[in-house]
Amino acid sequence: MKHVTLTFDNGPEPDVTPGVLDILAKENVPATFFVLGHKIDDPDRRKLAERAHAEGHWIGNHTFHHDTPLGRVEGPNVPEDEIGRTQELIGDLSHPDKFFRPFGGGGALGPHLLSRPVADFLTAGAYTCVLWNVIARDWADADGWVETAMEIMAPQDQSLVVIHDLPTGAMAHLPRFIDLVREGGGEFQQEFHPDFLPLTRGRVTGDLDACVTDPAAA
Ligand SMILES: [Zn+2]
Repeated sequence: MKHVTLTFDNGPEPDVTPGVLDILAKENVPATFFVLGHKIDDPDRRKLAERAHAEGHWIGNHTFHHDTPLGRVEGPNVPEDEIGRTQELIGDLSHPDKFFRPFGGGGALGPHLLSRPVADFLTAGAYTCVLWNVIARDWADADGWVETAMEIMAPQDQSLVVIHDLPTGAMAHLPRFIDLVREGGGEFQQEFHPDFLPLTRGRVTGDLDACVTDPAAA
């Protein structure tokens, strides 16, 4: 469990994100927030991303709608509508590496994450694609996700955790989670281990093809 990186997806949420930021500040844990375009399009919610950025967290792109995994949607405007538009809204809050996190529906990795046009868009735009290896299912198990995460993380040297700053009640357990990680000898780090980055600033640095729908097989 030694190295643990926290990412908060699908926000920002006015009733949740400020509390998460308070906890992270108190515990001195730097993290990344993968925000949704349709949420930061709202000035009040964008202010929450501004606060996160000002407090040293990184802001990444998690699509505009977060509707269907991008490997399962077609159409010439999908990359721009889902990723480009969100990146514009993130604007100067973006990390220079332009972090993009695809979504899999339930956290599954696989070729449904990206279509070929989306992968090409990310490559041309010098994005960095950030995957994960710990899905705590906090959205479905608000009170049990900490134990789920600890079990997955136990044998791993590097853990990249996906949790959500959503109004599920799950984030009430964030302080306990942080305590358990530290009691178990884990250390929080903001950096993403290269194993989780199939694309780094537009350069293929991992198995990007494993994340791309094969049109021939569709
Ligand atoms: Zn998501």
